[in-house]
Amino acid sequence: MDSARPQTPREKLEAWLRYYGDLNLGEFYRDRRTMAKRAVRQPVEGAHASPAGGPPVPPLQRTVAAAQRMAPPTVPVLPILDAPSLFEAIDRVENDSLERIREDLGECTRCRLSKQRNKIVFGVGSARAELVFVGEGPGHDEDVQGLPFVGRAGKLLTQMIEAMGLTRDQVYICNVVKCRPPENRKPEDDEVATCSPYLYRQLDVISPKAIVCLGGVAAQALLKTKDPISRYRGVWFDFRKSKLLATYHPAYLLRNPNAKGEVWKDLQKVMAYLGLKPSKPSR
Ligand code: URA
Repeated sequence: MDSARPQTPREKLEAWLRYYGDLNLGEFYRDRRTMAKRAVRQPVEGAHASPAGGPPVPPLQRTVAAAQRMAPPTVPVLPILDAPSLFEAIDRVENDSLERIREDLGECTRCRLSKQRNKIVFGVGSARAELVFVGEGPGHDEDVQGLPFVGRAGKLLTQMIEAMGLTRDQVYICNVVKCRPPENRKPEDDEVATCSPYLYRQLDVISPKAIVCLGGVAAQALLKTKDPISRYRGVWFDFRKSKLLATYHPAYLLRNPNAKGEVWKDLQKVMAYLGLKPSKPSR
C-alpha cells in the first residue's frame, strides 16, 4: 500500500484542500448561508491565526485558514433561494398555474395506471381555495366522470365539507394519483412518485392555508413517511407554506361509521384554524 496517499476521510479532505489551495481556489463552505454571512465580514479577521499562547492549530484548520488567506473572502457565488430547502425550490415552477399543470400532464402515459384508466382525474374546485382535500386516487365513478370524489365516498366528503360551512366550489379536491388503480388497489410507490410532482405543483399554485389528507396514502405521500395514519391523525404539520392535517378517508368511514366522531374532531380543528363556523343543520 502507498503510505504517502491519503487514507482516512480527513487526510483525503486535507489533500483536496491543499490541491485547491495550490490552484488558488477557495473558499469552501458546508452550506451557502455560512458563505453569505462570511461575505459581509471582511476581511477575514485573522480567522486562521492561532490564539496567542493558545493550543496549536490542528493541520486541517491550518489548511482551511491558508485557503482563506489566499482567496478573496467577499464573493458570494450562489444566491440564497427563498425556500426552506433546496429540494423544495427545485420542484417549484415559475409562473405556474393549474391550466399549465393540466397541459403539462397531457394525455399522460408516464406510469402503468394510464393503461386501464378511462379519464384523468385532475382535480376540481377553486384555484384560490384556503382548504384543499387530497385523496388517494380515483375509483370507478371518478374514472368515468373525470372528477374526484363523486362516488359513495365522495358523497360523504361533500357532506363533511358542507358540515364545515363550505361548499365543494369553495375548496379544492384532488388525489395523489390521477388515474384509477385497477380493482381500486392502493397506488404503488413508483406510481405515487411519478404522479406526485403534479400534485405538489397544484398545491404550490393554490397555496392553501390548510391541506387535509384523506387517508394514509395521501398523508404518506405528502409527509414522506411510511408510518400508519393512526400515529399522526389529527396532528398539524407544516407543509411548504400550508398547514397539513391527516384524517381518515371517507371510504374508511363508510366501513367504520364509529370513526366519524374522530374525523369530525379533526375537521373542527381545521375549522378553528380557518375561522369557520359549522353550518346549521337543515330542518
Ligand atoms: N377515493 C379517493 O381517494 N379519491 C377519489 O377521488 C374517490 C375515492
